Amino acid sequence: MTRSVSILGATGSVGSSTLDLIERAPDQYRLVAVTANSDVRKLAAIARRTGAELAVIADERRLPELRDALAGTQTRAAGGETAVIEAARAGADWTMAAIVGCAGLQPVMAAVEQGGTVVLANKEPLVSAGDLILDAARGTGATILPADSEHNAIFQCFDFARPERVRRVILTASGGPFRDLSLAEMANVTVEQAVAHPVWSMGAKISIDSATLMNKGLELIEAARLFPVPAERIEIILHRQSVIHSLVEYVDGSMLAQLGSPDMRTPIAHTLAWPDRMETPVAPLDLAAIGRLDFAAPDSERFPALRLAREALEAGGARPAVLNAANEVAVAAFLDRRIAFLQIAAIVEETMERYDPAAPRRIEDVIAIDREARSHAAEAMKVFVD
Ligand code: NDP
Repeated sequence: MTRSVSILGATGSVGSSTLDLIERAPDQYRLVAVTANSDVRKLAAIARRTGAELAVIADERRLPELRDALAGTQTRAAGGETAVIEAARAGADWTMAAIVGCAGLQPVMAAVEQGGTVVLANKEPLVSAGDLILDAARGTGATILPADSEHNAIFQCFDFARPERVRRVILTASGGPFRDLSLAEMANVTVEQAVAHPVWSMGAKISIDSATLMNKGLELIEAARLFPVPAERIEIILHRQSVIHSLVEYVDGSMLAQLGSPDMRTPIAHTLAWPDRMETPVAPLDLAAIGRLDFAAPDSERFPALRLAREALEAGGARPAVLNAANEVAVAAFLDRRIAFLQIAAIVEETMERYDPAAPRRIEDVIAIDREARSHAAEAMKVFVD
């Protein structure tokens, strides 16, 4: 029996890991839609290899190029943001949401509204519009599964039948490339140093988020959305080897952890096969070779993003959406070499001080808050770039 799948953000790091699994068993999957932002060459190659029914490029100016690249195939080509949203509801049973940032918000909503299984790697929509996405899923009966390795680990360890027996959820953080640097040293780090994650190989935005630890802050909010446990009982611990992907502690003192190699194909395979299991080509963990597992408390002085995310989560309402939008703007500016590394968190904090809108009630409100927060962040950034 074949399963119909769509991959939103198919050309990215998570998209590639997902395709790697799917292409190993071509008779088991039928590709409905694959999408990208601007990488026509890679998108067309994916569509040709997999025989995807629909290939969508978000940057509409690239559509003629995509059409040319797909000439002679059965794949339909489309372009533009609306076409990406349409692709998300093109009828797949299983959809991987792997667009980066809040650009994935409407596609995620569209996939959820269609029903089926929606796998979330794309964490930013859950941060900005978590309640609305989860409400929509309850309405349509869509199954949301977390692909983020930490949340996938918690999902595997969490007793959903007895959430009141959970004492703590503990998210592990590798600490990123600057975990051992002083604040003074962090002031001068380059883009190249920041994207060079010590353990994981990922897209540029999440690599920077991992270096500031904003990624862990976003994951804190993501965990509070996905699991029925109060925010104050979700903790973060530094664990440099990234072997334990997260833990759940129960009232009897038991701690359950999920361990694995730092390879996204394991959590993605878990969501592909769930509730079953499937084989993957991931290297088995060699515990004797790893030898030791280290843990340490995170330092929110050197990594203020942790404090900002915790504050946004506790305040609720629109705060997580403002935090996320400001962070997206600041990370893009750092990647463009317009601001320094430590200014990323400073811009997020300044934006949150300037802009405190009412809680969103509909997805359109989140989109408006996201847009407005971005313009406040651009203003806040002028202090650093002028
Ligand atoms: P990448 O940057 O590698 O890939 C992003 C994908 O989204 C690409 O296909 C890109 O297309 C597409 N895209 C970018 N901008 C837009 C846009 N405006 N509209 C439509 N599509 C767009 O990111 P990652 O794969 O690293 O991350 C994807 C998401 O998964 C993020 O939210 C990240 O936080 C999360 N995640 C990633 C992990 C990882 O290991 N990489 C682990 C856990 C979570 P194009 O190639 O054309 O630019």
